Amino acid sequence: MLLTPKHIEFQDRVREFAQKEVAPLSAHLDKTGEFSLTLFKKLGESGLLGIPFPKEYGGAGLDTLSYAIAVEEISRVCGSTGIFVAAHISLGCSPIWIAGNEEQKQKWLIPLARGEKTGSFGLTEPNAGSDAAGTETTVKKVGNKYIINGAKRFITSGAIGEVITFTATHDKSKGSHGISAFVVEKGTPGYSAGKDEDKLGLRGSITSELIFEDCAIPCENLLGCEGEGFKVFMKTLDGGRISIGALALGIAQGALDAAIEFAKNSGQHKEQSIQGLIADMATRVAAARGLIYQASMLKDAGSPYTKEAAMAKFYAAEIGMWVCTQAVEICGIAGVTKKYNVERFIRDVKLTEIGEGTSEIQKIVIAREILGK
Ligand SMILES: Cc1cc2nc3c(=O)[nH]c(=O)nc-3n(C[C@H](O)[C@H](O)[C@H](O)COP(=O)(O)OP(=O)(O)OC[C@H]3O[C@@H](n4cnc5c(N)ncnc54)[C@H](O)[C@@H]3O)c2cc1C
Repeated sequence: MLLTPKHIEFQDRVREFAQKEVAPLSAHLDKTGEFSLTLFKKLGESGLLGIPFPKEYGGAGLDTLSYAIAVEEISRVCGSTGIFVAAHISLGCSPIWIAGNEEQKQKWLIPLARGEKTGSFGLTEPNAGSDAAGTETTVKKVGNKYIINGAKRFITSGAIGEVITFTATHDKSKGSHGISAFVVEKGTPGYSAGKDEDKLGLRGSITSELIFEDCAIPCENLLGCEGEGFKVFMKTLDGGRISIGALALGIAQGALDAAIEFAKNSGQHKEQSIQGLIADMATRVAAARGLIYQASMLKDAGSPYTKEAAMAKFYAAEIGMWVCTQAVEICGIAGVTKKYNVERFIRDVKLTEIGEGTSEIQKIVIAREILGK
């Protein structure tokens, strides 16, 4: 798919940023699980934390396609930084952009999009993963406050999130119609982050529990209307799937780059079987990119894109896993050491098959769009 000169120029700029600022840190972030405040600031200063939002709301005023390109380029060198950017934009900022009123956008979206604050998104719970409507975190309105009790888990940037959007139910018997979306700010009494997960991959991205114990938030922190939170979060996830697809694609491209480098260095590239494998890997990566660009362009055109976003995420994550597996095999023992980074890529890419809806759930979404509910 042909990119416009503007998109190519943007891609070159992000690629240069990723090579200069992100690549040198990627092994360290993976090893230590540290959050780099310096890198966060640089991402913000480069406009990479508010790419698809209008300039008047602190964003870069670019389109979804540019956003997907950026996540791919960053993830090509560091999946942990890729998911940080994707979660900040798609999960931290987007619910406020989608459902926030003007005052909420001024208060929260602008500092998030400028990269002055970190954002996160609490949907998943111990008993509500794929079945997100199973939310058990409760909300009760008392005077002009909402009182929240419950816990979220596996939340990207949870412990470092300063503006957190989350869901809670007024009445579990109403299912998804009983769920509302809210914002809580770090430091609010009764709100805290619990333990960080010790994950297989994307280890440089912090993933935490969020705990609400009689946490009182002002009524002004309701996003949209009461009972519409589930809809807001599902709309958020539609867009988020494009970015997780781009994350998987970037990791796959990084693994392909490494396999090509290894094959050339070792002379294996002269063997027909390796040539065939590299061709197969490159073709699948290109097909995933096509699906991601398609979903991005549909979103930018204001057309329905639920099915295409699910296809893009599903396919990119699946081929990502396959491409990284082949890359490890091509590199042999070098593939299971740190030398070519493929050992990190294969651990990182596995998580893209799970986050923002597993591959099974993507297939359900795709089939429902094709066959009807
Ligand atoms: C890296 C990463 C980052 C994440 N970040 C966030 C975040 O920022 N915020 C957040 O809220 N959550 C986040 N999550 C959580 C993620 O959204 C959930 O892990 C995901 O929705 C799956 O939920 P679960 O792990 O509870 O699996 P479960 O729902 O328990 O599923 C277990 C298995 O059963 C299968 N399954 C479940 N239901 C069905 C069905 N109906 N049909 C067929 N198969 C089914 C699933 O496919 C899966 O294989 C993150 C996860 C990862 C891996």
